[in-house]
Amino acid sequence: SQVPFITLSNGVRMPQLGFGVWQVPDDEAAVAVSTALEAGYRSIDTAAIYGNEEGTGRAIAESGIARDELFVTTKLWNADQGYDSTLRAFDASLSKLGLDHVDLYLIHWPLPAVDKYVDSWKAIEKIHAEGRARAIGLSNFHPSHIQRLLSETEVAPVIDQVELHPQLQQSELRAFNARHNIATEAWSPLGQGKGLLEDARLAAIAEKHGKSPAQVVLRWHLDLGNVVIPKSVTPSRIQENIDVFDFELDAQDLAAINGMDSGNRLGPDPETFNLV
Ligand code: NAD
Repeated sequence: SQVPFITLSNGVRMPQLGFGVWQVPDDEAAVAVSTALEAGYRSIDTAAIYGNEEGTGRAIAESGIARDELFVTTKLWNADQGYDSTLRAFDASLSKLGLDHVDLYLIHWPLPAVDKYVDSWKAIEKIHAEGRARAIGLSNFHPSHIQRLLSETEVAPVIDQVELHPQLQQSELRAFNARHNIATEAWSPLGQGKGLLEDARLAAIAEKHGKSPAQVVLRWHLDLGNVVIPKSVTPSRIQENIDVFDFELDAQDLAAINGMDSGNRLGPDPETFNLV
């Protein structure tokens, strides 16, 4: 496929566009991941809490694609934060995936009130040193949480996966990450499909290029330098979402999308989210 790679700060190459499987039941995830791999996706984003690491792993095994051509991400769930529990949770994830290493392991949420992300990270540093995660990073971390991690731990995170779409553009966080050589990965890159994709401004841009609103939004992310992991279980959409390398947005299109930033957060605020 034509998916470009970005080089993470530790030298590991990551496809800039991957496939997300949140809210997809295990059996359905196996089918969706197989469809995505056939369509040319090589990066898969799952998490322990999604309950579909087994289905994801099964699809990977059955694909016959060489392991070093794939990029597999999973995440440490909140209830497992803490040094020893992180080590145990990672083992469980690897075993469900049926893999001997992942490409990227993330702390799913910072849980500032729980205050265990520094200890969790130290366990993840050990996992990284053992070669069981080629790269390690964060999800839903604000600059203040990242600053603390940088000052209290050894290995810098390579990426921060956060809610990011045209209605929540996260310019401050993206600038912070860029200054610290941390890649920015967008979750819910399509705004979960609701509302955002019906915006008339996107429809006009899409029509001009003969593409869909979803494709326009994904192209915008790629132009900003974001890693994206759109999710779909519909084969035609799975294909559509990776077919974004044959057109370019112009300055006017980009300006129109940049003007859609309303601060509309679909998920929880990481500063206060403390579900375990
Ligand atoms: P998304 O923005 O990728 O939107 C997915 C939804 O948009 C689909 O369910 C479908 O309804 C619609 N859609 C998809 N393709 C479409 C198309 N071509 N045309 C029209 N509609 C389309 O939302 P998401 O699943 O929330 O996010 C993507 C991935 O990000 C997840 O699967 C997961 O891997 C990750 N994620 C991570 C976190 C985190 O806390 N780290 C949180 C949420 C999601």
